[in-house]
Amino acid sequence: MSDINRLEKLLKGKDPVVCMLAPSFIADFDYPEIVWQLKKLGFDKVVELTFGAKMTNIFSHKYIKSDKSKTWIASPCPTLVQLIRTKFPHLKENLLPVHSPMGCMSLICKKFFPRHKYVFVGPCLTKKVEALELPYVELALTFRELEEKLRKEGIDKVRKRKLTFDKFYNDYTKIFPLAGGMADTLHSARIIKDSEILVSDGVDEVMKILKGFKNGKYKKYRFLDVLACSGGCIGGPGMTTTRSVDEKRERVIKYRDFARNCEKDLGRRGKIVHVEEIDFTRKF
Ligand code: SF4
Repeated sequence: MSDINRLEKLLKGKDPVVCMLAPSFIADFDYPEIVWQLKKLGFDKVVELTFGAKMTNIFSHKYIKSDKSKTWIASPCPTLVQLIRTKFPHLKENLLPVHSPMGCMSLICKKFFPRHKYVFVGPCLTKKVEALELPYVELALTFRELEEKLRKEGIDKVRKRKLTFDKFYNDYTKIFPLAGGMADTLHSARIIKDSEILVSDGVDEVMKILKGFKNGKYKKYRFLDVLACSGGCIGGPGMTTTRSVDEKRERVIKYRDFARNCEKDLGRRGKIVHVEEIDFTRKF
């Protein structure tokens, strides 16, 4: 059964379904039209991963602060995780033992929408592998698959009414899918110097870095914000448009600024206090 068939089965099932949309969506789709399109498709709730990304950051921050003896590697990219598991297993202990924004958001959704099923939609093929390891994510779809399904159903971009996300408010992590987005939103100035952070993207660069580790350290760095796709997730294989990476980056930043200026403080959840009992750590 294809993943689109599995989505159709879920949407026809008795349980309501949450769509967890990766923040790179804005590089391919328009906001708020996409929220209407997804609800028209049959999703009961549509949330962004931004609150999940915030929790990835907060838990990662704790580990970077507590252990200065090694070079920590950002772990939200499942392609990087698979590379380490298969080719550099000795570096598993360098991966930050924290769920990705998708994993964190699924745990958050389980608390707030306990009777729903959860579907991730994003730019990434390898998220399908990560989803298999998560207890609550039923399905991980790509933007390509979503576009195919919208086309099949004849759901066009129509701004019928102004719908916004069923949101756990956070605007600053909207830049997470850009290369360096995690480092930029980690709020790490008090625990680590800029010169101790390395940002890199693209699988060739990442391979060079992983090969260069010696005794748990990569040169002088304490934190590596590395993503396997060029430009970060906006360069992911599941994106649909032919826009350049620069254009996509511009759309992400413009959307972040729009949300910051026009959607602030809508009384939505998105504070640590709302999820303080959830454990966002994971093992590799
Ligand atoms: S960088 Fe590419 S492989 Fe890694 S999470 Fe993003 S889309 Fe997936």
